[in-house]
Amino acid sequence: MNVILAADIGGTTCKLGIFDEALSLLEKWEINTDISNEGQNILTNVHASFRSRIEKMGFKMEDCHGVGLGMPGPVNFTNGILNGCINLNIEGKSPVSSIFEEISGVKTIVDNDANVAALGEQFKGAGHGHSEVVMITLGTGVGGGVISDGRLIHGIGGSGGEVGHITVDFDERFHCNCGKKGCLETVASATGMVNLAVFHYEKDFKDTVLATEIKDETVTSKSIVEAAIAGDKLGEFVVEEAARYLAIAMSNISVITNPGYFIFGGGVSEAGNYLTDKIRKYYTPLTFPPAAGDMEIVMAELGNDAGMYGAARLVKQYLM
Ligand SMILES: [Zn+2]
Repeated sequence: MNVILAADIGGTTCKLGIFDEALSLLEKWEINTDISNEGQNILTNVHASFRSRIEKMGFKMEDCHGVGLGMPGPVNFTNGILNGCINLNIEGKSPVSSIFEEISGVKTIVDNDANVAALGEQFKGAGHGHSEVVMITLGTGVGGGVISDGRLIHGIGGSGGEVGHITVDFDERFHCNCGKKGCLETVASATGMVNLAVFHYEKDFKDTVLATEIKDETVTSKSIVEAAIAGDKLGEFVVEEAARYLAIAMSNISVITNPGYFIFGGGVSEAGNYLTDKIRKYYTPLTFPPAAGDMEIVMAELGNDAGMYGAARLVKQYLM
């Protein structure tokens, strides 16, 4: 039996896993990410940790089918080049797959962390192996991955599936990290909910339990959702707006890949049914009717392991 190696590399820790050929997890562990020296130790450390673990299991590096890596930055899937990554202290382009192949002697495939998490959830988590799945991660930003016919969509430069940058706020009120305005991320992420709360507090909703936090600039998406559930008018309005913007983006995605599942992950998704019921309310009338009926909204199941599973799945799909 040969094995598959997979790593989800983050700014603080790297999650490593060894899988068998059927993609059953044999072992998993974590190492700290050493971002000193412009991130140059990261791949060497991951390789050293893999090597010592698989040698203890009685395998050799040369026996591995391949290595899958998830990276927290923009990746060109075609050539395995990471185009800079602030979290890893890497400036400029870094040919991650060639570097890792050189160190390890094993074929390596690289994708960004949101994509590998989506693929992990699709085949092992909430997607139940369904071939048409979209994942939307609502954290500080809005991440995502689009899977069609069982494979991630990448496009020519890796921008395929960047659902957080679909334009939904045509008033273009808030700046996005990508350089433009009006992105889904600016109105539906944790940051986006704060944007909306501050904007509408000043405009329409002075009478709110969130007033002090807004003035002190300490308001969070968590306190907004809690206020909404408790019946606060500003809180309710913000969650309603975020849900409406998500529904607009999802209805657009639906006529492109017609997904069976939208999987939600990330901190904001902890609002659960309170949020997804509102999304559904807006989504159905906005969406091309044949696409609207069979779609299910589900919550991510694998947590921090999703990326590792997805990275292993990439090896199986592309290197075996
Ligand atoms: Zn953007």
